[in-house]
Amino acid sequence: MAIDLTSLLAHEMAALLRSGSTSSRALTEAHLAVAERQNHALNAWLLIDREGALRQADAADARIAAARRDGLDGVAGLAALHPLHGIPVGLKDLISVEGGQCTAGSRILAGYRAPYDAHIVERLRAVGAVFLGKTNMDEFAMGSSNEYSAYGPVSNPWDLDTVPGGSSGGSAAAVAAHHVPLSLGTDTGGSIRQPAALCGIVGMKPTYGRVSRYGIVAFASSLDQIGPFARDARDAAALLHAVAGRDARDSTSAPVSVPDELLHLAASDDEAASWLRGKRFGLPREYFVAGMDPDVERRIREGVAFLEDAGARVEDVSLPHTDYGLATYYIVAPAEASANLARYDGVRYGLSRRLEGGDFIADYLATRGEGFGAEVKRRIMLGTYALSAGYYDAFYLKAQKVRTLIKRDFDEVFASGIDALVAPTSPSVAFRFGARTADPVAMYLSDACTLPVNMAGLPGISIPCGLSEGLPVGLQLIGPAWSELMLFRAARAFEGLTAAASWSGMPPTHLAASNDGAGPTPADRAAALATLAAAALVAPR
Ligand code: GLN
Repeated sequence: MAIDLTSLLAHEMAALLRSGSTSSRALTEAHLAVAERQNHALNAWLLIDREGALRQADAADARIAAARRDGLDGVAGLAALHPLHGIPVGLKDLISVEGGQCTAGSRILAGYRAPYDAHIVERLRAVGAVFLGKTNMDEFAMGSSNEYSAYGPVSNPWDLDTVPGGSSGGSAAAVAAHHVPLSLGTDTGGSIRQPAALCGIVGMKPTYGRVSRYGIVAFASSLDQIGPFARDARDAAALLHAVAGRDARDSTSAPVSVPDELLHLAASDDEAASWLRGKRFGLPREYFVAGMDPDVERRIREGVAFLEDAGARVEDVSLPHTDYGLATYYIVAPAEASANLARYDGVRYGLSRRLEGGDFIADYLATRGEGFGAEVKRRIMLGTYALSAGYYDAFYLKAQKVRTLIKRDFDEVFASGIDALVAPTSPSVAFRFGARTADPVAMYLSDACTLPVNMAGLPGISIPCGLSEGLPVGLQLIGPAWSELMLFRAARAFEGLTAAASWSGMPPTHLAASNDGAGPTPADRAAALATLAAAALVAPR
């Protein structure tokens, strides 16, 4: 029986490519077919680039053939190829690919063509990865549910009536639904880890400065980081390895070396788990927030018990300024966003509403009024207010000071010898469309457990940790700056420990329903739920 290539992990695909049992073209065709078939039901992709992907796949196959010819017995040449060579990857649609669309989920960038490749796109081209297309996202990466995309919401492949999380919801849903084994997202306050948790996959936000942001549409520049999604730790580590490292074009990208061990995480589950012996984990009490779903908390505590059984020490710790994370984030992020978004003026980028009469200000107002969605406007207003003369000290400056206190909490815990923190990624599982859109603060609270990590610039990873009412729960591991390799080892250990669990490696429960090319779209589902909610027939959850 022919194997379903889309069910494989990237490192399994890489092995098949090297043994000659499959080709990048076959892998790419298989993934394109599922993505094209399911995009009606999921809306995970804003662009599926069949032609471009197949061209890259053929080039990857040609290099494999050349490597096989030129190496000793074919081995040396093939061994030099990066594990991502010939593997399909999805890119969040705020990553510039020369000549291609880059909407950032906004109407204001409709029709815009990126004039150059982002740094990470250059890096992925250099290792021979195949770009399947651009994934859906909340407008300008503002959101926690992907309901703020100007191009419609995305469904979660575990339950098509629920959100995949945001803002990188398309990237997460595409990986969970086997459209690609790997994708990239950005995380400003949780936008990689939260959707990874809600979709039951692995997602990492690296240390601030680990990956160059050159060619990425900016949201909040002191918080934004690019990072990988995958269905296991090894694949995510390999993708980080491909894109990380210093780039002179982003002055905040750090000259810190990228460990090659990222490509050599333990293959055996037992060996991976044995790494945990003697490690010290901290359980921050402030992360078990009021209003947290009790069943999600149970899954997290079960995860902690797994770590202890494997010989790790888990201690209660305190990060006393956690409570201020949300308030400071919603000063700093909108302030930076209001500055970054000033460039969308209708003159230089995308949408332009030139009115009759040549009134520049009227053109500007019309372009921005029509081009930006409500959430983006809300952020611009919050940010402009916080930065205005007279309020700057009271809000922005104060928030920056509190940010230092938040960072200090983490520094102290790690200085006391704790290797990593264990916490929930999200206080709830995936919620239904519409459940949080009426109340911005309820939406903002989705990221209470992830925001402080961005405020401190630290790396964090979300890994699958069981199901609650049939929906995935994510466990978050947080480490000191530049500890990505350690976090991946811990994540890989957790995978090893839980490999026999019923939920481990389980495909999303609504994959079959996602094949329905004539059924409701995510927008239809959201509208139907809104109608029911208006009639008070279903309580939002
Ligand atoms: N949900 C948060 C926000 O809307 C974080 C988004 C992100 O990480 N890009 O700002």
